[in-house]
Amino acid sequence: MTAPNRFRVRCPNLCCRRLLAVPKAARGHLVRCRHCENTLRVPGIRLSGTEISQVARVVA
Ligand SMILES: [Zn+2]
Repeated sequence: MTAPNRFRVRCPNLCCRRLLAVPKAARGHLVRCRHCENTLRVPGIRLSGTEISQVARVVA
């Protein structure tokens, strides 16, 4: 099952649509899908900075 410090978001790239496991610390940040290299903003509280700070792990 999913580790408690991670949650899942779906890649918005229509050619990808992979489920990504994102650290909760990445909420409000941009992450990069490792499958298609697309970047997406993780929903949640907005944190300072917009640089890509995490790389999402493809789980499906
Ligand atoms: Zn993707």
